[in-house]
Amino acid sequence: MTQENKAFGADVSRLLEIVTHALYSNRDVFLRELVSNGADACDRLRYDSIQNPDLAKEHSGYEICIDVDAPNRLVIVEDTGIGMTEEEMIDHLGTIAKSGTRALMEQLKSQGSAGAPSLIGQFGVGFYSAFMVADKVTVISRKAGSNDVWTWESDGVGGFITYQTPAEDAAKLRTTSGTRITLHIKDDASEYLLEEKLKRIVVTYSNHINLPIYVGTTEEEPVNTASALWMRPKSDITTEQYQEFFAMVSGAMGLDQPSVTAHWHAEGKIDYTALLFIPTLRPFDLYDPTRRHSVRLYVRRIFITDECEGLMYPWLRFVRGVIDSEDLPLNISREMLQQNAVVHKIRSSVAKKLLGDLDKLSRDDAVAFSAFWHQFGAVVKEGLYDAVEHREDIFKICRFFTTHSETGMASLEDYVARMKDGQDSIYYISGENVESMRNSPQIEGLKKRGLEVLLFKDTIDDFWLPVVMDFKGKKFVSVTKGAIDLSKFPLEQKEKAENDNDGKPEERAARAGLISYLSSKLSDRISSVRVSDRLTESPVCLVASEKDVDLHMGRVLKIHQHYEANAKPVLEINAAHPLIARLDEIAGNNADSGLLADAAELLYDQALIIQGEPVKDPSGFARRMASFLSKGLAA
Ligand code: ADP
Ligand code: MG
Repeated sequence: MTQENKAFGADVSRLLEIVTHALYSNRDVFLRELVSNGADACDRLRYDSIQNPDLAKEHSGYEICIDVDAPNRLVIVEDTGIGMTEEEMIDHLGTIAKSGTRALMEQLKSQGSAGAPSLIGQFGVGFYSAFMVADKVTVISRKAGSNDVWTWESDGVGGFITYQTPAEDAAKLRTTSGTRITLHIKDDASEYLLEEKLKRIVVTYSNHINLPIYVGTTEEEPVNTASALWMRPKSDITTEQYQEFFAMVSGAMGLDQPSVTAHWHAEGKIDYTALLFIPTLRPFDLYDPTRRHSVRLYVRRIFITDECEGLMYPWLRFVRGVIDSEDLPLNISREMLQQNAVVHKIRSSVAKKLLGDLDKLSRDDAVAFSAFWHQFGAVVKEGLYDAVEHREDIFKICRFFTTHSETGMASLEDYVARMKDGQDSIYYISGENVESMRNSPQIEGLKKRGLEVLLFKDTIDDFWLPVVMDFKGKKFVSVTKGAIDLSKFPLEQKEKAENDNDGKPEERAARAGLISYLSSKLSDRISSVRVSDRLTESPVCLVASEKDVDLHMGRVLKIHQHYEANAKPVLEINAAHPLIARLDEIAGNNADSGLLADAAELLYDQALIIQGEPVKDPSGFARRMASFLSKGLAA
């Protein structure tokens, strides 16, 4: 027998170190992981043998058997699945290929080993979790369609060996293919040599695995229910069973609960059953663009894939669960699924149903809905440009921060219902921070006129806005862009009185001297200067010109698409502001004053700062500021 000693991949060594040295709050999960691998292996053989029946010709049936050999301190987990070749064992058990485990490793690296126990419990470390309870693991496997039986063996520290399995050991395999994993149980893990303990773990974590799991050689009844939960009538299923199933399909393992459980059967043009969950918490890799959704596709109870890209919209990628189709052919290749018309119909029908359920949730349980929206709203909004046919339903559940309320959020319906007479636009401002948007000078004039402004804080808002344009015929209008004519909306009474104090309206409106001075002085940075409708308190602000993208959008594009906008903004001045009035006077008398030049720079810099943009010449800014301060204090 030839044995070859091989080193683990670098990440595996590090992971195993963490796995074996961290103190586990819950080592039970090792069995969950091995059982889930066994079930996956059976599903794969079941699927492959549809195309190639020879693979399972003399196969004895799909099952997972867990045996204990207490005197020798062994736990054996065997499945009758597809099995592995030597090469597959080296690749799959000796390196970390899987993106989920790699993402977990990244988290462990950034958090240090202290977070390991809970993270491992949450995401699982797959096969390697065997080393939490075993100091040696022997894997014997026979790949379906092959006569070779290979052994992989490791102590989880010094690499692994593989060798061709001796005939007496190969004979232990139950059927024509499958994997038999022998765990040499550690001294401090003796509890796992008790069958009762193993049974309890199976019931807890693997009850709804879709094939029988036996514990103990003499058992005749499977430990688990071994049935497709989603095919049972809703009325027969308890909340606990739903939660258990969610834990299994979400990988959240009891740390999270579904916020929405949707279980329905669709009949008619398409026929399918779905049991889907929306988690309460955002998964750690929600925004990872390579992340796939995790809905498992079955065809008439046979597992096909959990990587069917066309099955769920990317903007519903947080949904977990099972879809079981009656219409798809069993022998469809995974590649063909992506463009399959039935799959696309299911996707659309599922989206419609979930959006309807969420809309209902928003009316029935505002708190739960708001929790959902904070976790996943930004993702759902991707659908506004990604799926035009669902836009209306997505808009129904969209909620935005608003000047109407300090804390609450508004739907677009709410906004439209509150619109002023003659208002035909939905006003919004976008930015990173809700509080600074609330205080932003560009919305002063709207607030004073009682016009509501929506505060868009998600980056995604800058991407759907240019595509979507309007809601029920009401255009979305950025308050930081273009001239906004607010003259038809009167200032609300109290404000009006205050505002009338400084100067006659004609005087206020003109400020021609200052405008012409600022236009030429700042001509390299701004496209024009004009008197503003939107300012009531601040002296100045910047807005984008009509033909350009809005200022925040420009910044987002710069970051995300490395697009350098060379558009110059418009400087708007508050004609009624005493400072502007005084500067206008100075400009009228002596346009060459050094004081005026400094003031122009300061006004511009101030507008930049409010906008969240860096000041181009900070030391110049500080010098001018100091000079003005000392003049002010001396007076
Ligand atoms: P995951 O199951 O998430 O892919 P694991 O660490 O649990 O990650 O397993 C790694 C890989 O090893 C699996 O993807 C599979 O290819 C292979 N594997 C593990 N256990 C088995 C098994 N019992 N039968 C066949 N292949 C297996
Ligand atoms: Mg696994």
